[in-house]
Amino acid sequence: MRTHPADSLLTEKLRASRHRVTSQRLVIYRELHARKQHVTADQLLDAVSPALPGIAIPTVYATLFLLEELGLVRRVSTGTGAVLFDSQVDPHAHTVCRSCGALADLADGPGIPPEALRSATDAGFAPDHAQLLIWGRCADCVAAGAH
Ligand SMILES: [Zn+2]
Ligand SMILES: [Zn+2]
Repeated sequence: MRTHPADSLLTEKLRASRHRVTSQRLVIYRELHARKQHVTADQLLDAVSPALPGIAIPTVYATLFLLEELGLVRRVSTGTGAVLFDSQVDPHAHTVCRSCGALADLADGPGIPPEALRSATDAGFAPDHAQLLIWGRCADCVAAGAH
């Protein structure tokens, strides 16, 4: 299999955590990395199936959870039933459209307010991750008059 720019990072993280480097893991991470957007496990399964014949959804989930553990992907639960995986792991805010379900990065947003993490720490909590989700209707749905 030819190497890919995403491979070295994943290979390094897998070896450091004593996990095996498999073609399934490499192909799934390549796909996530290339997309730079939010995908469901089902969308990912469709995308990698041609390269990984016979792969099933439990393997996709298991790989995504491993990637999450390695800090290479973030899981975003939108509260609308969908769980999406994001290969951009820097903290950033998201918008969730209640009409069409679109999840988007809020590029110019404030990210996660540091005060929120500080309050949690002050309360004796040990935070390791925070997400900011803004629900409503996306620009397309507003323009279309959807509810
Ligand atoms: Zn929408
Ligand atoms: Zn995102």
